Amino acid sequence: MLTYDANGKIDILALLPDELEAKIVELGEKKFRAKQIFSWLHVKQVKSFDEMTDISAQLRSKLNDSFCLKSLFAVKKLESCTDNTVKYLYELSDGNHIESVLMEYEHGNTICVSTQVGCKMGCRFCASTIAGYKRDLTSSEILMQIYEAQRLSGRKIGGAVLMGIGEPLDNYDNVVNFLRLVSCPQGMNMSLRHVSVSTCGIVPRIYELAELKLGITLSISLHSTNNKARSEIMPINDKYDINELIQACKYYFSVTGRRISFEYSLISGHNDSRKDAEELAKLLKNFTCHINLIPVNKIKERDFHSDRKSAYRFQKYLEELGMNATVRRTLGADIDAACGQLRREYEI
Ligand code: SAH
Repeated sequence: MLTYDANGKIDILALLPDELEAKIVELGEKKFRAKQIFSWLHVKQVKSFDEMTDISAQLRSKLNDSFCLKSLFAVKKLESCTDNTVKYLYELSDGNHIESVLMEYEHGNTICVSTQVGCKMGCRFCASTIAGYKRDLTSSEILMQIYEAQRLSGRKIGGAVLMGIGEPLDNYDNVVNFLRLVSCPQGMNMSLRHVSVSTCGIVPRIYELAELKLGITLSISLHSTNNKARSEIMPINDKYDINELIQACKYYFSVTGRRISFEYSLISGHNDSRKDAEELAKLLKNFTCHINLIPVNKIKERDFHSDRKSAYRFQKYLEELGMNATVRRTLGADIDAACGQLRREYEI
């Protein structure tokens, strides 16, 4: 994808192999140079053209003239004492900040990445949206969160969840380009089976994403089972209501064959009663999907709360109604690993 920096230079990290090849040929170079450069960027993940030791100084200087190689810089790192979760606060080249969280599961390391600086969706319980939206991340900025975490931690990262700051489907083109880059066999080669894209429910984009058949897991932040309750905590529901959302999910499943994951953050007194469980079971009955229960993370600006006990109680209600749900493991609780909290503290 062609993106430019303020000086009109092309963001080289955002180019797919064929795009890079076309640009290198335009510079009067042989095609195989593009393969070498792509590998330096996405396999060895170098941070400057000068590290590309099998490229002549002359070509490196040409690259410097035409392309920019962006970087991000970890200004803060928090490590959990209870598990191997690490949270990074990154500074972008324009001085904005974003967060990533590296988590360890039995099957390997997965990273939670941000897709925007801030968020305009306004979900009431979410720290990422309180100070509003600043800008979209480029596909390279999403990608670099992974490369930098891998470099800093020395841990190989095999999966990613787009559940950090921002709404991925509100930054659709950059997110799709990121997915193509991260899964590129000549580069990071991450299997998209290990990538989840989470959305608050931007319905038209769900239809578009379905057509791409990327093999990712689509996660839907549902959090309520009727329009009145959902609109109270998620303004997006006024634009695309629950029925439209579920229709889009059914379409997504029919086209991709990929089971959808519904995220349900339990908020005490709002959505955790037996009646809520019944409504949820009714809504998702006969639909091949997964329900993920998350006790809402307390953020200091809001009074929403819950606990693991209520989550297990809600899970039991659902089981009795013939629905399977899991309670999400809490990782990094001691370092406030929920998205947006660190950035907010830093910027105040
Ligand atoms: N904008 C996307 C992805 C970012 S948030 C989305 O809405 O899906 C990732 C997940 O964390 C979403 O399910 C979101 O609703 C949830 N979330 C945000 N703040 C939370 C909090 N304080 N407690 C629990 N879940 C939260």
